[in-house]
Amino acid sequence: IKIKITNIDIPVAFASAFEGEIIRRKDMQVEFDGSRVDCAELVHTCDASEIEDHKITVIGPEVDEMEFGSKNSIAYVVKVAGKNMQADFEPVIERKFHNYINCIEGVYHTGQRDMQRIRISIDAFNAGFRIKHIGEVLYASVKNEFDAVVDKCEVVIYTDPAECTRIRHEVAIPIFDKRDERLDTLTDESVDVYYSCILCQAFAPSHVCVVTPERLGLCGAVSWLDAKATHQLDPAGPCQIITKERPIDENLGSYEDVDEAVQKFSQGALEHVTLYSIMQDPMTSCGCFECICGIEPFSNGVVIANREYAGMTPLGMTFPEMASMTGGGVQTPGFMGHGKHFISSKKFMKAEGGIERIVWMPKELKEFVADRLNKTAKELYGIDNFTDMIGDETIAEDPETLVAFLTEKGHPALGLDPMM
Ligand code: SF4
Ligand code: ZN
Repeated sequence: IKIKITNIDIPVAFASAFEGEIIRRKDMQVEFDGSRVDCAELVHTCDASEIEDHKITVIGPEVDEMEFGSKNSIAYVVKVAGKNMQADFEPVIERKFHNYINCIEGVYHTGQRDMQRIRISIDAFNAGFRIKHIGEVLYASVKNEFDAVVDKCEVVIYTDPAECTRIRHEVAIPIFDKRDERLDTLTDESVDVYYSCILCQAFAPSHVCVVTPERLGLCGAVSWLDAKATHQLDPAGPCQIITKERPIDENLGSYEDVDEAVQKFSQGALEHVTLYSIMQDPMTSCGCFECICGIEPFSNGVVIANREYAGMTPLGMTFPEMASMTGGGVQTPGFMGHGKHFISSKKFMKAEGGIERIVWMPKELKEFVADRLNKTAKELYGIDNFTDMIGDETIAEDPETLVAFLTEKGHPALGLDPMM
């Protein structure tokens, strides 16, 4: 017999009313930030015999032992077991952590995988809220929502920095990479349906992601396979099937079916969305994009910045400045939020010529995508080592220096038509 847990044992309130609550720096006791220190969030399927149901373990310092206002590491592993559990469901459960943790009064969560960010407010801390309560919330929420597949659940939360580094690099990242590789064989043409995702409507009420095999959700955490699993787990839930029987323009990636779906799921706020253009009816962005690309008029190209990048881009804007132009579920032609893995996709702004428009990326991001991006450039255009032609912050932070660099390298964007 499965019992729904209605009362979560934590010293603050837990309700969807707190989901959109933002904790400002001045109101914060401590924060955890995956973009600066090692963090991770992970669901791990185990054998039932390995799990003690409702056991919550904290390995490392509690909030009391952390310096006021400090930035800390956190990694939580939610171990689950159940006879109907499938590894395909792990990322789906993981993505819900964002909602669960946000429902805690005085606690704020953004991001996912190894890039999450959490703030605990001074008020929540004073009310007695501690790390172990995150475990209570994850335990109760997972048991409640996924009772069809999760019979037993145990939560281990690491705050010890060395342990967080180990969990992130030795456990979580290999699992994330494996998930991403499963998708490599799928193309948009090879599947019969796409999926919508509206998980982010709590923050951006008109935002709809259209998730395809070659274009994952902009958060980077919802692939087409994940959306499919979400739909299997909860047929009336956030991910719905979008047919693709009535294409309008294959190059733009526009479909009557997609338009109808975004109209419906945005409650009429959006009419047309293309899958492959950043200029014509681009997909909207909520707030949790891993990256933003924006047009760079002097080179006919685009600049991409990732969330972790704290410096300046040749657009004269930082990542937060680009984000302020892009988020909130509105369409902003010329700017678009997207996942990191979309950068090496053959569908990345295909309507405008594809990845050969990419002229600048932070060095770290460039290194992260290099293997995949170079492979795509070779396949699409016969270019070797394409990333060597792309600028970064060590080469240029302004358009003049960038264009001089691109000219010297013979970057293909310079020969393309202007985008506007
Ligand atoms: Fe879903 Fe998109 Fe939000 Fe990711 S960013 S959770 S795909 S709505
Ligand atoms: Zn979002």
